[in-house]
Formats: sequence, structure tokens, C-alpha cells
Amino acid sequence: MESLSKRAKVLTKKPMTLAERAYLPAIFQGLSITMQHFFRAATKKQVTIRYPEETRPFSPVFRGLHVLKRDEKGRERCTACGLCAVACPAEAITMVAGERKKGEENLYREEKYAVSYEINMLRCIFCGLCEEACPKAAVYLQADKMAPPRFERDEFIYGKDRLVEPVAPDLRSKRGIQLTPEQADTLRTQTA
Ligand code: SF4
Ligand code: SF4
Repeated sequence: MESLSKRAKVLTKKPMTLAERAYLPAIFQGLSITMQHFFRAATKKQVTIRYPEETRPFSPVFRGLHVLKRDEKGRERCTACGLCAVACPAEAITMVAGERKKGEENLYREEKYAVSYEINMLRCIFCGLCEEACPKAAVYLQADKMAPPRFERDEFIYGKDRLVEPVAPDLRSKRGIQLTPEQADTLRTQTA
């Protein structure tokens, strides 16, 4: 049928050569592109890094691995109110509440505390809503740590053993640190 616009071109299909039928031009073209990338990567600065041995610098607003904070006396701040779990859009937080016994006042700040507290890092989307919801300033997302790679899914369930910050003050996370009135006074006089 004749084209109305007269723009159509009639194509004639040439028979393929033997080399084309064996895909040789396409194979050599592909190999040349691969070799170009190979030599370019060998001579220029590499764009990939050896994670997890090497890590890129974190953004100042990075939200990483959670920490359950202690107060200035080293007591766990979490009172197992469950607000973080309710706020969590990924339903990544579970906990079991318990009542503080006599003699445990130096371990837990409130009369109620978290006997177990777990965060599933595979579900977590690191939105920070748990941190915002917490009325006790107990849970924070650290700006300089992330969940390291693991081989088993179970290992991404972080319990209190990995979430509660160490007792030694120099090992504690800097984020959300609570100053004592004396420390606040010292800081005020230093910056005045
Ligand atoms: S950071 Fe967001 S997703 Fe992760 S545990 Fe907290 S509220 Fe849930
Ligand atoms: S971390 Fe905060 S919000 Fe979550 S249970 Fe403990 S006190 Fe409540």
C-alpha cells in the first residue's frame, strides 16, 4: 500500500554475512567496551570501597543503630511504656515490661523497666520516630554506627545486650547524652 505522507522509506533487508550469523561483530564490540571499563578502572581512582572494613563518612543527619541510654548515674532510662513500639511504622520494636525489685534502684531509673527489649533491624527503616516518641529520652539513633552485615537473619534481632549503652561514660554514645547540673554549669561557664 502506498504511503499517504510519502515519507516512508522502503527498507531492503540485506542477507547476513557468515560472521554476522556467528555474532562475531557483536561479541568483539561487547568485549571492547568491557576492556575500556577495565583499563579505565585500573588507571583511575576506584569508586568502590571495601565495605565493611572501610566505610564512607556519615552525613551529620545520619540515623543509624539504636542505643538505649543510661542516665547520669548509669541507670537504664527506659521505663517500658511502649510508646516507641506504638510509634514505629515498621513494627520493629517489641518489649516485655517488669517491675523493679527492692535493691535494683541503681539499675533502673523508674519502677517499671524493660525486662526484654528487641529491635528487628531488618524491619527498621531508621525513620527516628521511636526516638521522637520516647518521653524518657531513652532511645536514640546513633549518628556514627550502623548495623553491621551478618549471615543469619536472627542476628539482626538486637536485644538489650547489644542496645543498652556501656556503663563506662567514655564508651557511651554522644547522642542524647544527659548532662548533670554540675556538668551543665561547667559548660555554661566555659562557653560564656
Ligand atoms: S527508627 Fe523507625 S522503623 Fe526503626 S525502630 Fe525506630 S520507629 Fe521503628
Ligand atoms: S524506649 Fe522510651 S518510649 Fe520506648 S519503651 Fe522505653 S521509655 Fe518508652
